[in-house]
Amino acid sequence: MIEMLKANKAVLSLFQKKELTENVKEFLENFTDEEYCPLNIDVPLKHSMYNIVKHKGRTYIIYNTLFNSMITLSDAEYVQYQNIRFEDLSLVEYFTDNGFIIPECVDEYHHYYAYKNILNNQYSSESHYTIVLTSKCNARCFYCYEEGVMQYDMSVETADRIAELLYASDKPINITWFGGEPLLKADIIDRITGILREKDHEFTSDIITNGSLITEEMINVKFREWNIQWVQITLDGTKEEYMRRKCYYSNDADIYEKVLLNIDMMSKNDIPVSIRLNIDGDNALNCVSLSEYLKARYSDNKNISVYPAFLTDCGSHFNDESERLRYAGLIYDKYKPERSILSSIPKLNSCYYQQKCSFVIDVDGSILCCERDVGRQKTKLATVYSIESLDTLYKPEKIFPETKKICQKCVYYPKCLGGCIVAHSCKYEYDACFMERYKLEYLLDKIIDF
Ligand code: SF4
Ligand code: SF4
Repeated sequence: MIEMLKANKAVLSLFQKKELTENVKEFLENFTDEEYCPLNIDVPLKHSMYNIVKHKGRTYIIYNTLFNSMITLSDAEYVQYQNIRFEDLSLVEYFTDNGFIIPECVDEYHHYYAYKNILNNQYSSESHYTIVLTSKCNARCFYCYEEGVMQYDMSVETADRIAELLYASDKPINITWFGGEPLLKADIIDRITGILREKDHEFTSDIITNGSLITEEMINVKFREWNIQWVQITLDGTKEEYMRRKCYYSNDADIYEKVLLNIDMMSKNDIPVSIRLNIDGDNALNCVSLSEYLKARYSDNKNISVYPAFLTDCGSHFNDESERLRYAGLIYDKYKPERSILSSIPKLNSCYYQQKCSFVIDVDGSILCCERDVGRQKTKLATVYSIESLDTLYKPEKIFPETKKICQKCVYYPKCLGGCIVAHSCKYEYDACFMERYKLEYLLDKIIDF
């Protein structure tokens, strides 16, 4: 038996109790490993529902997605684990000290749910605002979830009101500029950030753009003024596929090359660029070729990251888990997922919808929970005109739908936290699942192969 990753003893201690009664934050912060009391193994025991088992030949690996512990076993040891009957009593300690085997009375899902809710209320986080500058776009991606919403730009009055609320906030601010294509309204970014700089209010920003409207002057001057920390650009395939999918209004045949040159320029200026490959059943292989091309073009450039994401609700994609894992894996072979997902402490939230201090400000100033709700406003909380301060904004419990039954039982839940809330209503089974599911499987497969 080899212990590869050990469970955090403080977290483990919390989960060995029947209920969470402590001040969780204080408990975690003050706990020292010497205080850890090994579990009394005379109580009835069970396997953690968060164990993933992989095996190759006579070697087994067990990884626990909640406690982030990992262990390698021989087949004889694995049989003891499987039956929860131990010839070697030191083995049972390894299993209980790493959360692979837990008291039968612990309801892990509800325990974890309570843990993250308590901690989310006890930790304060930076405020994040996704500001939708326009619902217009210079491209027409067939999968855009803003299709059918009214197309218009943010007014100067709304921008000024947003800036007024932002600079009155007591917290540091992080903004994501979003659209439509946000760079169609670079003047509004100038206006909001200009006011924040004038008032000396701390802020950082990032932008989700198709990259076609970026210029050298923008990178050298504006991105600094806007305090841009990173840029996300979607490339849906090699040139022909990209042009077909993006379907730009302009007849410029060189847009693809221009976007790549803009990525080059940003990376030379030390601006991190995240290249997102939006995959469905039609372009999966093409995206693998693109990832090979990007790897050759950017080699190990630390400013460039490339990651796959599966499109949802667009008809032409695949609903086979192994196919998804295969294509994601071919891209991960070039751009490895961060190994830190295996060893972090249990996650408290996933997407911006779930984060209590993250809000979307729509083009008309409506304040929403989710970027996919732009123009529809089902998750509307207020408007920038109806509130006095951003610091008192909060998301009421009722805005969070109950976790789906399938997620409550899912081994990936501690990494994915129930996935995309909106995509649960999509057609295919795996549409809602975050990529953590595939990253984890990929990394564990590589470890067992090794
Ligand atoms: S619910 Fe889905 S679309 Fe909305 S913020 Fe979360 S991941 Fe994004
Ligand atoms: S969305 Fe998918 S991966 Fe995430 S918890 Fe639910 S079933 Fe599991």
